Amino acid sequence: MSAPDPKTLSAETIVDFIGDIFARRGAESYLGERVSMSQHMLQAAQLAQQAGADEPVIVSALLHDIGHYTNEFPDDALARGTDNLHEEAGARVLAPFFPRAVTDPIRHHVAAKRYLCATDPAYFDQLSDASVHTLNLQGGPMTADEVSLFAKEPNLDAILQVRIWDDQGKDPTIKTPPFEHYAPMIARVVAAHQKDMT
Ligand code: FE
Repeated sequence: MSAPDPKTLSAETIVDFIGDIFARRGAESYLGERVSMSQHMLQAAQLAQQAGADEPVIVSALLHDIGHYTNEFPDDALARGTDNLHEEAGARVLAPFFPRAVTDPIRHHVAAKRYLCATDPAYFDQLSDASVHTLNLQGGPMTADEVSLFAKEPNLDAILQVRIWDDQGKDPTIKTPPFEHYAPMIARVVAAHQKDMT
């Protein structure tokens, strides 16, 4: 199967398109961690599934770092934004096909770390060295004002859950099912969203 042309990306081709990114680029390293990018995202999805999360939340965990690959997506998806943050870019390229239950935890997964560092001392203690390093680059723990604003996010629970699975999905000894295990689930989430929009 050849990769779908990004110029004609649609609800019918998006699952194969993402699968192709996992296949070609998943082995790339996850900066400063002992797992590859695909291992990391598959582990986050596995943790979500083991926790009994809803399908959109599992898909969100699986795709939370897709923003590192937005150069694979059509140019216009990126041109709509001005920043280059991977969390915002990832949510933006998925937004035409996925509900906010998927894109909100992706959009906010860095903010969620800053939120949890401000509200849960035990959370900070379990962050990896690489994640503590990036926390400082990302603005450090949220201020009290930022915390009260962020607490109003409609998908807050899913946002915080995906963040915690993101932090935990860094174990080089864990085996996971491949991307293909999740492909039918992604297709169901996309199809349900298309139906909701019509
Ligand atoms: Fe991640």
